[in-house]
Amino acid sequence: MADCRDTIQMLYSYLDEMLDDALRHDIDTHLVSCPDCQGRMEFEFEVKARIRAKAVHEPLPADLERRLRECFDMNVVADPAVDDGSGQ
Ligand SMILES: [Zn+2]
Repeated sequence: MADCRDTIQMLYSYLDEMLDDALRHDIDTHLVSCPDCQGRMEFEFEVKARIRAKAVHEPLPADLERRLRECFDMNVVADPAVDDGSGQ
């Protein structure tokens, strides 16, 4: 039986529908009896829905996307000489 801690820990997996049926049922059972977790779950669900809706209508700015890609590249090659252009 899931408690509040389990529920919060699995909240994102639950919202992403990545839990197996038994776990999902556990969380469902807890949510019915716990307004705190239910509120939290609804809040996160709303946030996710808004992010998804926004992502569809507003693609990442080209500059931000480029910088994100640079960050990922940096993680791979770990080049300390890369200038981030911030002037610092
Ligand atoms: Zn709870």
